[in-house]
Amino acid sequence: MGIVRRTKSLDLLMSQFADSHDAISAVALIESLKKDVNKTTVYRLLDRLEDDGVLHSFMSSDGIKWYAKCKGCSSSGHADVHPHFQCTDCGKVDCLDLEVTIPSIPGRKINSSQILIQGTCDNCLN
Ligand SMILES: [Zn+2]
Ligand SMILES: [Zn+2]
Ligand SMILES: [Zn+2]
Repeated sequence: MGIVRRTKSLDLLMSQFADSHDAISAVALIESLKKDVNKTTVYRLLDRLEDDGVLHSFMSSDGIKWYAKCKGCSSSGHADVHPHFQCTDCGKVDCLDLEVTIPSIPGRKINSSQILIQGTCDNCLN
């Protein structure tokens, strides 16, 4: 996993993302790791993993930061630009495997963009 040094805290953090496409909020990560890893360490690890192209983050409409696993990213940049979907019923957020083209804006340089689609997830619809 790139240049991130493996530690127990890191293993615990990454195990939260094991075999899942779902995003996890920073708040939920801190809550489920609080027995073993302190809050500052969680934030520090998340920052580092994002720099290394292991995780990506985005902000939901309530201002909470969410993290999800990257596909094919590296420390030189994030290549996995995709929309995220938040269920307004259960609050679950996941990555959508869809291509989005960000339009170029004349005279401006785009550094990042995020698309958050809100609606009802497949679970809640059934
Ligand atoms: Zn990425
Ligand atoms: Zn739902
Ligand atoms: Zn994502």
